Amino acid sequence: MRIPIIAGNWKMHNIAEEAVKLVNELKAEVRNTDVKVVICCPFTVLAEVKKAVEGSNIKLGAQNMHWEDKGAYTGEISADMLKDIGVEYVIIGHSERRQYFNETDETVNKKVRKALEKELLPILCVGETLEEREADRTYEVVKSQTLKALENITDEEMKSIVVAYEPVWAIGTGKTASPEDANAVIAYIREVIKEKYGEDISELVPIQYGGSVKAANATEIMNQEDIDGALVGGASLKAEEFLAIVNF
Ligand code: 13P
Repeated sequence: MRIPIIAGNWKMHNIAEEAVKLVNELKAEVRNTDVKVVICCPFTVLAEVKKAVEGSNIKLGAQNMHWEDKGAYTGEISADMLKDIGVEYVIIGHSERRQYFNETDETVNKKVRKALEKELLPILCVGETLEEREADRTYEVVKSQTLKALENITDEEMKSIVVAYEPVWAIGTGKTASPEDANAVIAYIREVIKEKYGEDISELVPIQYGGSVKAANATEIMNQEDIDGALVGGASLKAEEFLAIVNF
């Protein structure tokens, strides 16, 4: 039985005061105990948010990390640094990082492997661009991204991975994949995992949908059989909206 995970990806939003205010508004009102709730905030407010979520069932996540343990990597953040603050989840391979920061399947794989080695739970993002969708390449692209990200990941490690299917054309655009369509792609990603890891493990992996999830469409998305939660961008920045999604 998979427990859905609803994660807010704040992206590059919220200085400390705003972050703490938002978490305080959220934490008393997260009533749905059938889902796990995660806030993936910027590095600069992780420590503040960690303090603010104490005593609630909101978990802490980061939005990226480096694959090396330490060294001369100016501006980068290691898995140990995240662990030191109490981070549990880390988004890896978000399409914005692939698009604007030269993240490749290879670096995504290195990061997933390091996160697992350090016992962080990776939220691995995959998804096709509009161009790829229009060329009927959605399934091919998500298969390739998924398998490349999972190279050298053991059966045991696979049990700690969360996958997020985020069609790039649905991110921040107000366009969502239809719930049936998102469900079909997610069911396919589960098939890809099954081919590599077998049915038992594939049934354990939570696969979220992300891309313009909001209060108005959350229930329909969450009710799909293969969709195990949501990765929420813009709507996670407003307490009322995010709470409506979490308590769907
Ligand atoms: P939006 O919910 O703003 O479309 O962003 C989705 C996303 O990229 C979450 O990681």
